[in-house]
Amino acid sequence: MTWIADQPFSKNSNFTVAVYGANDLIITKVGGITDKADAAQQIFAEIKSQSMHTGRRIFLAQSFTTDGSVSNHAEMCILAAVGAENITYIRCTAPNCKFCKETLQAYKVNNGNAGPLDGKSQVGWRHPFLRISFGTQLPGTPDQQLDELKEIHRTGEVPARPAYGQRSSGDPASGNFFEVTFD
Ligand SMILES: [Zn+2]
Repeated sequence: MTWIADQPFSKNSNFTVAVYGANDLIITKVGGITDKADAAQQIFAEIKSQSMHTGRRIFLAQSFTTDGSVSNHAEMCILAAVGAENITYIRCTAPNCKFCKETLQAYKVNNGNAGPLDGKSQVGWRHPFLRISFGTQLPGTPDQQLDELKEIHRTGEVPARPAYGQRSSGDPASGNFFEVTFD
């Protein structure tokens, strides 16, 4: 993780690594990541040089919504891909935005970025499991939106007419991840 955070490719994108199950790793970035991506190739080379793939499987998580790549926050790509209950630990190169942090907490994910520091507000954010989006293009302040998200997590229901968020017509995709094979 420290290695990824120190690489030039992570300066403009939030990268996230999670321990999936007991020992496997799942990696992604905002918008999802494919194995063709230059950053992915650099990460694979580092994994191989450190033999981090020995005795564990390595997965890449993909996007989960067509709302736009900016709405596919890296942490939420991993939650949507494998389910919150299968994540042992998650950590990002950048601080979580308020919505990701709240969602990780609501689903009781062990979050390496938990703490007082919040990332800046984002244009788009989509919930990994529910039909709701937030972001700076929608009405309300970030805190008003966050309060609405907390209420949605408390009740487990997205209101028919959210005050600040935007209800989506389709469910987010689950299971969008694949195993990396190393030769
Ligand atoms: Zn976020």
